[in-house]
Amino acid sequence: MIEIDFSSFICYYLLGVVVFVLIFWLLDKKTQLKKRSLDTKSVWQCSICTYVYFDPRLSHISTCPVCGSFNKRTFTKKEA
Ligand SMILES: [Zn+2]
Repeated sequence: MIEIDFSSFICYYLLGVVVFVLIFWLLDKKTQLKKRSLDTKSVWQCSICTYVYFDPRLSHISTCPVCGSFNKRTFTKKEA
């Protein structure tokens, strides 16, 4: 049987918990990035200069990075 003292057991236990939380956090962040990059709501087209850009904030109003005009989200029947 493996002999281990109490302080080493606590150290390994805490290390295991930290590694588990870190792996879970990285996997969750990876799936969030995939969702964000594939989400069509993050792609905007400027109504003034027709420039297509990516804005990850899911708001109803976005600012064009080229001309600086405000663009309002227009919903199609599929999204509404
Ligand atoms: Zn523009």
